[in-house]
Amino acid sequence: MANGYHFFMNPGPTNIPERILRAMNRGTLDFTGARFKAIADECFAGLQRVFKTTQPILGYAATGHGAWEAALVNLFSPGDKLLVIESGFFSLNWGLRGEQFGLEVETLPNDWRRPGDPAKLEARLRADREHKIKAVLAVHNETSTGVAQPIAAMRKAIDAAGHPALFLVDTISSLASFDFRMDEWGVDVVVAGSQKGLMLPTGMAFTAISAKALAATATAKLPRVYWDWRRLLGQGTQQGYWNGTVPVHFFYGLQEALRMLEEEGLDNVFARHHRLAEATRRAVRAWRQNDGPEVFATDPGSESDTITAVLLPEGCDADKVRQLALDKFNVSLGGGLDRLRGRVFRIGHLGDLNEPMVLGAIAAVEMALDLAGVPHGRGGVQAAMEYLTAEG
Ligand code: PLP
Repeated sequence: MANGYHFFMNPGPTNIPERILRAMNRGTLDFTGARFKAIADECFAGLQRVFKTTQPILGYAATGHGAWEAALVNLFSPGDKLLVIESGFFSLNWGLRGEQFGLEVETLPNDWRRPGDPAKLEARLRADREHKIKAVLAVHNETSTGVAQPIAAMRKAIDAAGHPALFLVDTISSLASFDFRMDEWGVDVVVAGSQKGLMLPTGMAFTAISAKALAATATAKLPRVYWDWRRLLGQGTQQGYWNGTVPVHFFYGLQEALRMLEEEGLDNVFARHHRLAEATRRAVRAWRQNDGPEVFATDPGSESDTITAVLLPEGCDADKVRQLALDKFNVSLGGGLDRLRGRVFRIGHLGDLNEPMVLGAIAAVEMALDLAGVPHGRGGVQAAMEYLTAEG
């Protein structure tokens, strides 16, 4: 049995604040009644402010995979072509779902350590003179690599090519943690989940849908029942229909989460995430001495403010470090995914976190590096502290 707090530093799910747990610790409510409607209305209005959109948002009792699938089956027909901007494990997996539905998926290849290149996207779309590509898919924050993608610049690239493709963006590990603007950036479908920046348990997912995307549902031929946006939207612009029993407790939690985000102020939430992320990166840069581990993201400005993937020197086992951090210090980190298995561990710094939580985790990782015999520089915690003190 471990003493003290379990430091949960995975890049999702994230810590659930006491306030949200308490808000969910209530009796159930008739989901057809006025009391529930008031809660749901507050939630959808709050979500629109977080997504920065005035367009409809739908919720599902599902994980992010469900919202991924909802976006595909509502918009496309067998044989339709999608262009996936490669960013890492999650981008490729979303594309794979498309293939499994009989869509033709082309990947715009990209180094996982760097953000996708909008100029390459523009060139590829210009070459598609017959407009065979129906949609461009991107992951705003690639959780497997800790590289953020330039969504606004990608939109500009699509426009510069004069291409009509829909633009679908996964914000599962960025929403409510760093800046995202659905309407201003011209995103047609936004996919999000409950268990990261929204600080809720896993199990609720969302899609925000532009008018252009909604129009595309009329001709899409993939089978859909549970995910059918036309049915879910019902009469109005907000969710008019729910498949089966409404998970009212999620709405209790979501209402509280949105209130917390608005009390702190979204810009302050983003600034806090940036500060904690930068402190983490400073620590890793200190470890980099003596040919130690390094931040996986290579391009300044593209490092994620929600997760830092730490690349170990050749021959070192990232999972050993992770296991030691968990077994010895009760700190849970994320592992490497796909081709990065064993090569990186991932420090999640998103959701309900403050400075001492991040410093504690960094200290534990530094000790785990020592115990695992990974060469590294010392003073990661010191470097993080100095940055945090200077930043006030
Ligand atoms: N997309 C991204 C960027 C993710 O980080 C994740 C999960 O971590 C997913 C999709 C899949 O979401 P879920 O695990 O909720 O199905």
